[in-house]
Amino acid sequence: MTAGSPLPSIAVHGLTGCAGELLVILENLENLIPYVRVSSFPFAQSKNEDDRPVDIAFVEGSVSQPHDLERLKKIRAQARWLVGVGNCAVWGCVQRDGCRKESAVAMFEKTYGDKSQDDVMPSTPLSDHVRVDVKLSGCPINSTQLLAVTASLLRDHLPYITSKPVCLECKLRENACVLIENNLPCLGPITAGGCGALCPTFGAACYGCWGPSEQPQMEAMSTILQEKGYEMNEVMSRLFAFGAPDELFERVKRTIPQVSVDTI
Ligand code: SF4
Ligand code: SF4
Repeated sequence: MTAGSPLPSIAVHGLTGCAGELLVILENLENLIPYVRVSSFPFAQSKNEDDRPVDIAFVEGSVSQPHDLERLKKIRAQARWLVGVGNCAVWGCVQRDGCRKESAVAMFEKTYGDKSQDDVMPSTPLSDHVRVDVKLSGCPINSTQLLAVTASLLRDHLPYITSKPVCLECKLRENACVLIENNLPCLGPITAGGCGALCPTFGAACYGCWGPSEQPQMEAMSTILQEKGYEMNEVMSRLFAFGAPDELFERVKRTIPQVSVDTI
């Protein structure tokens, strides 16, 4: 960005999700406003320029309906950088986990008593459909990461996003380990970092809300949790509730016999 040049533009969109990430972006808007022009943010403003190219498009939510997919393709075509924000966008989160257990059509019918299938499709993350330049996990995302990612993209650099386990951040904060010291079922060893080990810092177990870490050692985690007397189905269902790739689910099915996949 050079002096006198127009500010770079951003757009903030929500597909199927709870709007938690939109709220985090809204909360941080005063920090962004000096450096960007908000071209579109239907959640927060009524005048939006949806047909203009933007420098950065932030997209929350999963693709769960045909019109989500149409919007996503249009957003992708207009954005220089596309950032998937939050676990729904990155992993599919609870709605994807639901679709693993029961078909989207069956759930729709059960909920709305309507057999029409036109508006229903299985929930999937953004990257199943378009190129996603940056994936920002979290349920919801962390403000510091959001600002760091934006600053990096405004300088034309792809940011480095860690998916090393929460344990790494926990050790850097010199926390006592709640898994070892308190026998709590902490999923920090298999969960991606980024939150700054928020829960263990306050003495609680991590329940996996950032999604799986890079190369999660599921089998070793399972052995430790079983030694401590935990019911594997309950523990795994917490992790998978926030979404995880099908390959990881299949691996758990194959390698951890104590897990009954029908109930996670
Ligand atoms: S408390 Fe949890 S996140 Fe922290 S080191 Fe122990 S297992 Fe890892
Ligand atoms: S559940 Fe785990 S990943 Fe989520 S905020 Fe707590 S420590 Fe971080």
